[in-house]
Amino acid sequence: MLHGCLLVCAFATVAIVCQLAAAQPVPPAPQARFVVVLDAAHGGDDAGGRLANNQLEKSFTLALSVRLRSLLGARGIQVVTTRESDAAVEPEKRSEIANHAQAQACLSLHVSENGLGVHLFASSLSPAQPTHFAPWKTAQAAWVTRSLALEGVLNSALQHAGMSVTLGRTSLPVVDSMACPAVAVEIAPEMGPDKKAAAGLDDPDYQARVAEALAAALVEWRSEAHQP
Ligand SMILES: [Zn+2]
Repeated sequence: MLHGCLLVCAFATVAIVCQLAAAQPVPPAPQARFVVVLDAAHGGDDAGGRLANNQLEKSFTLALSVRLRSLLGARGIQVVTTRESDAAVEPEKRSEIANHAQAQACLSLHVSENGLGVHLFASSLSPAQPTHFAPWKTAQAAWVTRSLALEGVLNSALQHAGMSVTLGRTSLPVVDSMACPAVAVEIAPEMGPDKKAAAGLDDPDYQARVAEALAAALVEWRSEAHQP
């Protein structure tokens, strides 16, 4: 019987090992890298536009960048910024930071008292095939199609949050030299149902809603980017 018992024990051990193996959680697949570049436009001597209550655009864009970085960080999104203080950063340097980051989304942040709602701009460069040595000043040409797709996701999220959005194309040296899906975001006072200004740029609630909507868009963009 001893022999039989050993055999049973051996089977029992195998069964336990098998059960243990089955109970092991499957390690999650490594998440693809997802990096967002936030470019707070202006800074230092370049104050940008003058806003209501004597606020400066350069301060507003930096505050928005800081807020958005923390919202994205809380969602596990890695963020690279082109400036963290009131410093002058040349356009070439901004693009260089973005290109070095090999980001999946690059947002250049602007604020304006002109117009209402949020204006989204993709580069006006014509789409071009990627080349190994893309000319620096038109590097964005190879990314325009992806930039327009990113603009679409930002547009949906902002509209979902009840904001009025205007889409456009423009030539901005910073964006034109970026080798990533890139959109310039310009925030103007909120448009109300009567097409008049409903909330000023200094309205904390409006600021929070814009930042939340942009963060939601980037989370959506990440999930689309990760689809097989
Ligand atoms: Zn600006």
